[in-house]
Amino acid sequence: MTPRTLSKGAVDFIDDAALTSLITDRPEDPMRVRDIIAKSMQKEPLTVEEVADLLAADSEDSTEALFAAARQLKQEVYGNRIVIFAPLYIGNHCINDCHYCAFRRSLRTTVRKTLTEQELDQQVLALEQAGHKRLILVFGEHPNYTPEYMARTVEQVYSIKDGHGEIRRVNINAAPLDHEGFKTIKAAGIGTYQIFQETYHHDTYSQVHPAQTHKGDYAYRLDGLTRAYEAGCDDVGIGALFGLYDWRFEVLGLVAHSRYLVDRFGCGPHTISFPRIRPAHGVEMDEQHMVSDRDFKRLVAILRLAVPYTGMILTAREPAEIRREVMEFGVSQIDAGTRIELAGYTKHGEQELNREQFQIGDMRSLDEIMQDLMQHNYIPSFCTSCYRQGRTGEQFMEFAVPGFIENFCTPNAILTLAEYLEDYGSADTKAAGIAIIEKEMAGIDDATMRAQVAERVGAIRANTVRDVYY
Ligand code: SAM
Ligand code: SF4
Repeated sequence: MTPRTLSKGAVDFIDDAALTSLITDRPEDPMRVRDIIAKSMQKEPLTVEEVADLLAADSEDSTEALFAAARQLKQEVYGNRIVIFAPLYIGNHCINDCHYCAFRRSLRTTVRKTLTEQELDQQVLALEQAGHKRLILVFGEHPNYTPEYMARTVEQVYSIKDGHGEIRRVNINAAPLDHEGFKTIKAAGIGTYQIFQETYHHDTYSQVHPAQTHKGDYAYRLDGLTRAYEAGCDDVGIGALFGLYDWRFEVLGLVAHSRYLVDRFGCGPHTISFPRIRPAHGVEMDEQHMVSDRDFKRLVAILRLAVPYTGMILTAREPAEIRREVMEFGVSQIDAGTRIELAGYTKHGEQELNREQFQIGDMRSLDEIMQDLMQHNYIPSFCTSCYRQGRTGEQFMEFAVPGFIENFCTPNAILTLAEYLEDYGSADTKAAGIAIIEKEMAGIDDATMRAQVAERVGAIRANTVRDVYY
């Protein structure tokens, strides 16, 4: 591979030996855990060393303390909102050969497809007709999927309308681009650009991403979101694929990555994702580093405490029961009504694994998940306001302070939920939703804001307005 251009002064900020020493034979120190939790409750991001102390805290008492703290922090920073989105796979051609993925190029039995323009229209219409407002477009890495192509796809998605149906925020999960590529994507109006490092551990990275492939270049991928920032994309998402290497190392890698972006740009990632490897067509599962459900909960709670203001995404890879359990420890976004087969939103029936990247665990419809969330006292939100109001990057961080939720997030969650219920909700979901909206409105302290939100909800129900936000 010819070397590709990195960001100015790029450094490999992941020191395997240093991170390994932090998780090797580290004794649990309950006093220190208590102090670190206290720091986190002040909403201060933790250092990598502090996170290592939380990772070492494996006793039942410490684990319960971590869980309780993560629950409380989530409540204080995010309230009971859960932002809802759906993934939309655009094309599964791929020049890489990642061992864990059914799209890898050496797997001849995978059915390959790129959505045509007409198919893209149909998929987006189906998503809008279910009630979605936020999508993440997913691409394999292929010469056909140029930044210009991705930008045209984003623009097409925004242009597709169906009555009150429209997509208001389009995020992307795709391969890292060069500076020019990120500028092209930014100009198309994307929200978050997500790149998962998969594993931060260099040796493991080389084992699962063959050297002669694009993705085999660890440094280029690690530097991807730094280039994004330099190119003006200040809304980025990081992630690790849990199950490739020791989960504790990956947590430290994610925290180190987040801190690196904060140090360099004054602002960390907007979101962190923590997918666990799922069974996939043509993939031999290596069980050695599989993360147990208990450790999965711990890692979510520890990440919550480590980066109090970063959004955390839990996907439909996980089954419904696990999602319900894990959500309370700090998740702020989930996908719903998910289909990952190419053109899968217009198809009914079981997953066909030779057409999909992996097996998902939660096949429930959007409406079912909405109802379930509300029964568990969450308020599902389709809010897209921050990015449309320019509250991203550093600005987003400035706003993410006390008062932000009351003034922006809760009202926007109420308004977007009211729209969903009016336009797409089933009778049962509507009943549950109306009750939760009443409760949330009653909880708005500021009387002027409360009255204004009530008036706007009334106007949505009377069908006189849509898309009003703070
Ligand atoms: N091709 C782009 C790339 O590699 O960056 C897009 C990523 S892929 C379509 C989305 C993510 O799915 C990957 O980054 C990886 O973390 C995850 N993934 C791949 N295979 C998986 C599996 N078997 N189980 C769970 N997640 C998987
Ligand atoms: Fe291609 Fe991404 Fe799958 Fe790797 S994870 S084979 S890059 S689609």
